[in-house]
Amino acid sequence: MLKRSDAVVLGAGIVGICVALHLQKRGRSVVLLDRRGAAEETSFGNAGLIQREGVYPYGFPHDFGALLRYGLNRTIDAYYHPSALPRLAPFLWKYWMYSRPTRHRQVAHRYSKLIEHCVTEHEALAALSGAAGVFRRAGWLKVFRTERERDKRFAEAERIHREFGINHGFLDARMLQDMEPHIAPVLTGALHYTDPVSVDDPHGLANIYLRHFERLGGQFVQGNAHSLEADGSGWRVRTAHGPLTAGSAVIALGPWADVLTRALGYDLPLAVKRGYHMHYRPAGEAKLHHPILDTERGYFLAPMRQGIRLTTGAEFARRDAIKTPVQLGRAEPIARDLFPLAERLDTEAWMGARPCTPDMLPVIGKAPRHERLWFAFGHAHHGLTLGAVTGRLLAEMITGEATFVDPAPYSAERFGR
Ligand SMILES: Cc1cc2nc3c(=O)[nH]c(=O)nc-3n(C[C@H](O)[C@H](O)[C@H](O)COP(=O)(O)OP(=O)(O)OC[C@H]3O[C@@H](n4cnc5c(N)ncnc54)[C@H](O)[C@@H]3O)c2cc1C
Repeated sequence: MLKRSDAVVLGAGIVGICVALHLQKRGRSVVLLDRRGAAEETSFGNAGLIQREGVYPYGFPHDFGALLRYGLNRTIDAYYHPSALPRLAPFLWKYWMYSRPTRHRQVAHRYSKLIEHCVTEHEALAALSGAAGVFRRAGWLKVFRTERERDKRFAEAERIHREFGINHGFLDARMLQDMEPHIAPVLTGALHYTDPVSVDDPHGLANIYLRHFERLGGQFVQGNAHSLEADGSGWRVRTAHGPLTAGSAVIALGPWADVLTRALGYDLPLAVKRGYHMHYRPAGEAKLHHPILDTERGYFLAPMRQGIRLTTGAEFARRDAIKTPVQLGRAEPIARDLFPLAERLDTEAWMGARPCTPDMLPVIGKAPRHERLWFAFGHAHHGLTLGAVTGRLLAEMITGEATFVDPAPYSAERFGR
């Protein structure tokens, strides 16, 4: 039987875990609830990057050539289910509008206020949890096949450095070959982002934070978030240990947040971009030292605890439609030509669904029409990156402390009440 707690956090992905840990650390009694184990959904299988350079969230391309390629549905970086388009159209239209260069720049200025703390906030949580050595500090590489793309991206990186102070190094083909000797010599160079850090096991990191939450007295239980209902001045939810009442509730359900927010009467413009991964044994003595993005081809390779992880870009589909790892099938032969990959190590492709908003900003803050109800979702491509930042910001809001970042741009009220 559970006692009444100060707060219940619904969803134990990286975002929910960080919110719960930050609240517990501030002396609140917290129950973290999930229908599965911790970080077994989207937070399980991402590429492991904490993207300090990611001040411009991934926008919808506005050049005609890219649109044509995406329209033909033959690229690796984006793929869509034609049957999902009518339902996705309103979201895609808004996403397109927010991605126009002037608006995208405004979005980046709001987003950068969160991104600038992503490494320091993870480092603080890792130090607190006794896992200070968990981050790989080698940055990551955006590699290029053509001089045209390389020069365009070098110029863009210079502009972003001037605007936001994001550090990088330019590597020519020879320097890149020295850094990554097992990559095929087919590249013209790379951008080396030096500020980001990465982990070789995002699921493991989430569980390190969870264990510290439990050491501080927090409880992790199984239950269905959809059983949430108002109870006097707080909230009640059914768990595997019986009913739980809590003073406050936090919805941190990632790609499933809209199921509960809709039931509570909110009409938020949320959608998902699905993505896949597969692990490979590196062939022979081959070693990959950095996570790399094959920019023109549109897939990502990262050295992980389980092997070399190939992750794919955006699949526009209904969240619950069956897996269609088309992009993985397209990327695999190209990745094999770039880096010596041996056999697949997973029996089937893993799939996750990035929880997205059309303006590319997460939703962090108070529910507009309910007392003591809080939102923390919509982190899209950067839920690992921003989990620790969101955890601190929301915990400060809930406990009434001065916040370290102005939360106004991330309020759900920007989509109406
Ligand atoms: C291929 C891929 C690569 C990525 N690479 C990166 C990267 O390198 N860096 C980065 O920062 N981000 C990356 N991302 C994005 C990142 O993984 C997500 O933004 C992040 O995991 C979202 O975390 P979350 O806690 O919001 O959601 P989730 O991890 O999905 O957590 C939501 C939780 O809610 C639970 N839940 C749902 N419904 C219920 C219910 N009814 N009752 C109880 N519990 C429920 C689920 O079981 C789940 O545990 C990547 C994503 C993909 C798909």
